[in-house]
Amino acid sequence: MPQPPRRAPDSGTTGDLFDGMADASPRDDPGFEPTPAAAQARLAAVRPAAYARTRNHLHGAVTRLSPYLTHGLLSLREVVTHLRRAHGLGLDHKLVQELGWRAWWHHAWRHQGEAIFASLHEGPVPEAAYARELPADVLAASTGVPVIDQSVRALCASGYLHNHARMWLASYLVHVRHVHWRAGADWMHAHLLDGDLASNHLSWQWVAGTGSHKPYLFNAENVARYAPEDWHSFGSVVDTSYEALEAIAYGQRQARPADAPPSRGRHGSRAGGGETLEAVPVTPQRPGAPCPAPDPADFAGREVWLVHPWALDGPPRGLPAGTLVAGLWLDDHHRRWPWSATRWHFVGRRMDAITNAQWRGTAAQWTRALAGAARVSGWQDPHLGPLSPALGLALRPPAFAEPATACRSFSQFWRAVRFAD
Ligand SMILES: Cc1cc2nc3c(=O)[nH]c(=O)nc-3n(C[C@H](O)[C@H](O)[C@H](O)COP(=O)(O)OP(=O)(O)OC[C@H]3O[C@@H](n4cnc5c(N)ncnc54)[C@H](O)[C@@H]3O)c2cc1C
Repeated sequence: MPQPPRRAPDSGTTGDLFDGMADASPRDDPGFEPTPAAAQARLAAVRPAAYARTRNHLHGAVTRLSPYLTHGLLSLREVVTHLRRAHGLGLDHKLVQELGWRAWWHHAWRHQGEAIFASLHEGPVPEAAYARELPADVLAASTGVPVIDQSVRALCASGYLHNHARMWLASYLVHVRHVHWRAGADWMHAHLLDGDLASNHLSWQWVAGTGSHKPYLFNAENVARYAPEDWHSFGSVVDTSYEALEAIAYGQRQARPADAPPSRGRHGSRAGGGETLEAVPVTPQRPGAPCPAPDPADFAGREVWLVHPWALDGPPRGLPAGTLVAGLWLDDHHRRWPWSATRWHFVGRRMDAITNAQWRGTAAQWTRALAGAARVSGWQDPHLGPLSPALGLALRPPAFAEPATACRSFSQFWRAVRFAD
């Protein structure tokens, strides 16, 4: 039974929308440096009031903290503690709630495990009706739908995409082009510097309607409200009513540019200067940096601090002298979830800066190699799978005290959550 579509959120008033947020504007953004100093500078630049007013806009005062959170240069607790102390924010503030979404997706992953990588329930059309490959014109940023081509270009060039652009891109792929959410999610995860399996794959399911009650749909008017002019997509396939988009999503109608009302203005069909983007490859190996497999002889009798891609904050002070700061690359993970060169570069530079040496191996090789170490320490992360508890790594102190039992929805989760003091 078709459900009414979920529509994009309204912006509220505009007026002084961008006041006081110049230092947070992506227009002058220096990009992402994989250093604690850069992470701390972003945290210090957060403007919660401007965030709450403008976060849905592509040039709104979003924090761009996510690559630092995903890779452990900042912990969720550190960010939340800063927002409480420096800005007096409570659980009711929009920014704290958005950080809560990150905690919620991880709660869902913890309780549902591998199940989050398959559709949680059926979406608008049966699974078999969705393509398993991304269309070549999407990969080449040459669909002729400016909002999509701009999004693909930004993602591939910088490894970052505003939340709204992620929603538009995911919605277009799943509901207009009928690509399976999993194909889109794997591709986006590979390119995002903040690629996080829980936030990414469950957000795709939310958009797809396989993890939520309704598909998320958007149209050209919504893009025009939140994005700069070169993203506007009047005259394209998304320039149509929500009813028409819903019919396309449910397979009752073909998507075609003629769905656009004829009176609409057209803003060109090519985004980003006209050239076509080569499909950007993703790889399970760090380009140009071969790593030996972990060998028991390298660790025998040693104190070891493990640095891995989700714990790039570096070793804590006070480790015993002579501790080996060992870089861990997990073969099982990278074979399954390849990364773009941009992401390898971001993580690899930080790894090089803080480790004595690096190794790459499977969970079985790592467990065997570390068995003879005097002591192994480091932080757990779910991206390491069963390896982190197997090695006895420590859980990071949480930002929120969450219910131990599984919640069914974000609102149920958020009602039960308290700050972890
Ligand atoms: C299709 C899709 C895929 C996504 N994939 C990822 C991903 O791989 N990794 C990831 O960290 N986020 C993902 N998100 C969530 C969100 O888009 C990003 O966290 C956010 O855009 C990161 O930019 P920011 O730090 O400037 O966010 P801000 O808006 O400044 O938010 C501050 C922080 O709150 C958290 N946050 C905000 N919104 C969300 C959200 N909806 N879900 C979870 N956490 C949120 C993030 O940690 C973010 O850094 C995805 C969303 C969608 C719709």
